[in-house]
Amino acid sequence: MNPYSDLFYEGTANEYSKAIQLASGSVVRFLEKNRKPFSGITPAQLKTAFAEVDLNAPLPDYESLLSEVERLYSDHAITFHLPQYIAHLNCPVVIPAIAAEVLISAINSSLDTWDQSAGGTLIEQRLIEWTCSEIGFDSHSDGVFTSGGTQSNLMGLLLARDHYAKERLRYNIKQKGLPAESSRFRIFVAATGHFSIQKNAALLGLGEQSVVSIPVEGYRMNVALLEEAIQQELEEGNIPIAVVGTAGTTDFGNVDPLEEIGQLAARYKLWFHVDAAYGCGLLLTSKYRHLLKGIELANSVTADYHKSFFQPVSSSAFLVKNKRSLDLLTHHADYLNPKEHDEDGLPNQVNKSIQTTRRFDALKLWFTLRLMGKQKLGSYMETIIDTTAKVADMISQDDELELVSYSDISALVFRYFPAGLDEADVTEVNLYIKKEMLKDGAALLAGTRINGAFYLKFTLLNPLTTTDDVNKLLSIIKQHGATYMRQHRKTLYDRREIA
Ligand SMILES: *Cc1c(COP(=O)(O)O)cnc(C)c1O
Repeated sequence: MNPYSDLFYEGTANEYSKAIQLASGSVVRFLEKNRKPFSGITPAQLKTAFAEVDLNAPLPDYESLLSEVERLYSDHAITFHLPQYIAHLNCPVVIPAIAAEVLISAINSSLDTWDQSAGGTLIEQRLIEWTCSEIGFDSHSDGVFTSGGTQSNLMGLLLARDHYAKERLRYNIKQKGLPAESSRFRIFVAATGHFSIQKNAALLGLGEQSVVSIPVEGYRMNVALLEEAIQQELEEGNIPIAVVGTAGTTDFGNVDPLEEIGQLAARYKLWFHVDAAYGCGLLLTSKYRHLLKGIELANSVTADYHKSFFQPVSSSAFLVKNKRSLDLLTHHADYLNPKEHDEDGLPNQVNKSIQTTRRFDALKLWFTLRLMGKQKLGSYMETIIDTTAKVADMISQDDELELVSYSDISALVFRYFPAGLDEADVTEVNLYIKKEMLKDGAALLAGTRINGAFYLKFTLLNPLTTTDDVNKLLSIIKQHGATYMRQHRKTLYDRREIA
């Protein structure tokens, strides 16, 4: 027996091929068996199966391993590729990207330095250049792949903070830590922006208090109120440093007025970060590219390919208009990326990243663009946006449903609200609907709150989802709603009597 038969090397090519084949067989079984987005299993039910697993007693072969993993995981996994999954921002993934994953984990390049990746670094750089040019940035731009939108947003705010201190206070935060003034730094983002802005401001030592929430109009940032807020903060002696515009809000799929925000940011000399974690998919379509007008004014941009480029998690990028701003992140380590490397022209991506060891996620996008091309990928986005517009009409024309707003992209917030139902009870009915849908698993949707009231939410990211699919889902929603009303008629009635 070869004690190294599980190690990946030139002596185990057969073992490798067999394992990959068995694993992909398990994936095919997942496709064949999982015919609804969720089995509806509860954590308690699944935990009993885990109790029997002894991690110190390995299984004899891949067959038993895969059958155990199917029982514990795949059979009950949330199935994003089904048209009835329209809950969160999870896209179905394209096959070329999955094929790339086979190379990524086997060859296992690490993209921190040239001497751990070679051509991998150049592939990443070309994709960054391509994305920058789609955004409308010129050749001074640059960027890096990241783990996701949260990390990209962190980098945007970090550069905003350190850039302000360096240029306006002549103060180096990287070396000296936060200056006294930093407790007065202010970041502006619409009330509909992503929670990672608050979370990242806290991580950066500015506190959540540094984030000023700007009211929305039509669920997009109100720019007049943004200017008022900037002036008010100035009057109070605070220091505006950055504005974040969202291209595709997580709840409403709307794009803030990027051009106006960008112009205002320039007037007040503020860092302009565009969070296009969701909306970056609009870069792919000529039909809807105009929605991103003004994104080219940004100092930095977040793009999540794992949201709207049909890429597997993780695949994301942070892009900057001026590559020199990334110097704020650079730290030269003698053993890894010494200064001499820069002089020798060795590209070390770690200089631009807050990670060190980093996956070669870029290869997935490379496979995708080289095989499918931008247009085909963009046509998926167009189909999704067109379907969403039709679904929005369906909801707004339904007497039992209330649509909150039309979407620029593909997220719709609405609720079950038939005649005769009190505002006081509508949240409970919709919470019940959401819970029943998860229990049943035949179709999955999300939920959110507006001013405390609970709403249902669709996020369409599957070009295979048709208006027919959604129509069936709406019927299920209304059935659950009607059931709740029947069961609670007496209580609802009593409550109204008392009131
Ligand atoms: C999803 C999302 C994020 C966070 O991205 P992750 O990849 O989940 O870290 C940030 N901003 C917006 C608008 C998002 O929709």
